[in-house]
Amino acid sequence: MVAVVVAQDSAPTLTAVPGGSVEPDLEGAARAAQAFLAALGVDCERPGMIKSPLRMAQAYAELLTPQGFEPTTFPNEEGYDELVVVKEIPVHSVCEHHLLPFHGVAHVGYLPGKRIVGLSKLARLVELFARRPQVQERLTQQVADWLDGKLHPKGVGVVVEAAHTCMTLRGVRAAGAVTRTSALTGVLREHASARAEFFAVLNR
Ligand code: ZN
Repeated sequence: MVAVVVAQDSAPTLTAVPGGSVEPDLEGAARAAQAFLAALGVDCERPGMIKSPLRMAQAYAELLTPQGFEPTTFPNEEGYDELVVVKEIPVHSVCEHHLLPFHGVAHVGYLPGKRIVGLSKLARLVELFARRPQVQERLTQQVADWLDGKLHPKGVGVVVEAAHTCMTLRGVRAAGAVTRTSALTGVLREHASARAEFFAVLNR
């Protein structure tokens, strides 16, 4: 974190974020996992693997179930007008092409306008959009668009750096490859100096 904004009053919340919880059918998913593994020749009857289809179902349910939250915002009473950046937010998602995990970090920043948002909410926001079948480009853009649309800041910058296991474990097996995506809005998109400052903060 490079900037700390103290937000005190309990002002209006933004509308609840969509994407909340459909209760997953874990038993159905476990049966399907068992059939899937059997079709691939994996013997789930042997000791040690009896419960693996259920564990697999639980693991994917966790990865694919977004948790809604109330993204509380506050008036920017101090008129704070410097970049707010939260760096190194963990990202755990699943690529929509292979249903294999990709993971890394997100850096989320914005230049406040009339309102600010609780810093922890930026991490919750990344998690919200990560826990679904995704492509990294869309995840990056969705976080930026959401902040831009709901907070109306002067600008937003989002950078995601992630390793895709569909690329590192299989296919080209490009171990160590990291994909970097970015999405910018407002002055961070339009003004070279603001954009440069944002990337300088990230690289500091
Ligand atoms: Zn993939």
